Amino acid sequence: MSLAKYRKKRNFRVSPEPRGSEGGKRKSSLLYVIQKHRASHLHYDFRLEWNGVLLSWAIPKGPSLDPSVKRLAMQVEDHPVDYGGFEGVIPAGEYGGGTVMLWDRGIWSPEVADVDAALSKGDLKFTLHGKKLGGSWALVRTRGYGGSSKSSWLLIKHRDAFASTKDITQQKPRSVLTRRLLAGIARDDGGDVATAASGDPQA
Ligand code: MN
Repeated sequence: MSLAKYRKKRNFRVSPEPRGSEGGKRKSSLLYVIQKHRASHLHYDFRLEWNGVLLSWAIPKGPSLDPSVKRLAMQVEDHPVDYGGFEGVIPAGEYGGGTVMLWDRGIWSPEVADVDAALSKGDLKFTLHGKKLGGSWALVRTRGYGGSSKSSWLLIKHRDAFASTKDITQQKPRSVLTRRLLAGIARDDGGDVATAASGDPQA
């Protein structure tokens, strides 16, 4: 795990995103975060702390609580653990330029004995303890998507008390940190309000 790719893509003199440090102090709990990101396209960045960084997947449609629905999750570069506290506006023209909301946050625990082995095998089962998402989930690697060299996974909810057919992204669209919608974050932090608002539920 390394933050080299993360840092190479960004100019920290221009973007308010954290530069981050690797390793850091060992904690008994592992951070889980979802950031709703209205960049060139709306997506949800799903992040799990592991080995001192946040393993990261971009989920275009966001998570679904319905076990019959599999959501495409494209693995992206590892992010610093500090990133799990970031909400704000990445300046236009910068990598990932747009509005970022802390959509859910909490901790996660593996349901497998060997997380590294599960990741290389492409089948990670885990429990989320977030404000919006809970219960048992899986990330399963799939064949390449559309000839992309990026790694495609599917995020799938297991059947348990947290499973539901309600659309959590529509029903709980606000920041868990500040209760703002994307438009409010853009307005407060000097972003493009109209573009950000296009990622909020439409009245
Ligand atoms: Mn993103």
